[in-house]
Amino acid sequence: MILVIRPDATLEQIDHVIERVRELGFTAHVSRGEARTIVGVIGDETKPGSENFSAITGVEQVLPIMKPFKLASREFHKSDSAVYVGKVKIGGGSLAMIAGPCAIEGYEVLDAIAKYVKAGGANILRGGAFKPRTSPYAFQGMGEDGLKILRDVGDKYDMPVVTEVMDPRQVELVCRYTDMLQIGARNMQNFDLLKECGKAMKPVLLKRGMSATVKDLLMSAEYVLSEGNKDVVLCERGVRSFEDSTRNMLDMSAIPNVKGQSHLPIIVDPSHATGRPDLIPAMCRASVAAGADGVHVEVHNCPEKALSDGPQALLPHQFLDLMGDLRKLAGALGREFWAPVEK
Ligand code: PEP
Ligand code: MN
Repeated sequence: MILVIRPDATLEQIDHVIERVRELGFTAHVSRGEARTIVGVIGDETKPGSENFSAITGVEQVLPIMKPFKLASREFHKSDSAVYVGKVKIGGGSLAMIAGPCAIEGYEVLDAIAKYVKAGGANILRGGAFKPRTSPYAFQGMGEDGLKILRDVGDKYDMPVVTEVMDPRQVELVCRYTDMLQIGARNMQNFDLLKECGKAMKPVLLKRGMSATVKDLLMSAEYVLSEGNKDVVLCERGVRSFEDSTRNMLDMSAIPNVKGQSHLPIIVDPSHATGRPDLIPAMCRASVAAGADGVHVEVHNCPEKALSDGPQALLPHQFLDLMGDLRKLAGALGREFWAPVEK
């Protein structure tokens, strides 16, 4: 990093800055200009202590050279990473379509929905067994019974499954049934959960918090990566804003923004971003066009009876139409939705 010294700093203050830089184990390269002195600091910028350079008298500005999210950054890994969920490849031109109901409600309902989404071309089945609900009186999910149903239905349709884990104490249990761990928007900065998922040998779907910056999202990914788990897929799902005609505000620029800074795959969830089935297809198309590595949508065969997020669910025939359009679009862009090889 580079320390820009204040123009009025005394020689003693500059000497003190250099002394602190060396004390912390860095090498200091001092460049004294006529008007300004700058100190180049060589060494691992993530080392504890370096965040305090701006607190030293005489230092005007600290300019980091490396990203604070080292493992997630493109500096660390130049080419795009791909993450495998079961056989499904996400990234490197291979697109994910994660589809299913918001919550697992029972075997028959999930089976019916899975049949439709599989036929439409979804390659990963979703469904929540532990639901983060705003109201404690709302349906909280079926817990382990739901996980068993998700596993059975996923196996029946030969689809890997993803489900949310809300608490570090649930990670082991959820890992027994799922192929991918979802960390929800509300838990994006639950650091104990991030660390626990980082220790698990399952890919992680990390959703952007509703008031999180792109940098916050990448720092949360760094928590998982730094525990040894390299398989992180990011998910843009909208952020809170003043707009009240949509559930959240979808930040489409997050896709190229993340791609520029990180090698990790990123998908988009227009269901939670907009909360509106009439807007979801256009936002799915925009996501693929913007370079996303996949899409995540909620589908229900009877939204009026859904136990969670019914109003934003696509009907099976809407999902089918959407997939038809997305396949054409992906093809035109030289990418494709991962599909099993026909035998
Ligand atoms: C979900 O996927 O059902 C969910 C709760 O998503 P989010 O964490 O993005 O709100
Ligand atoms: Mn939902």
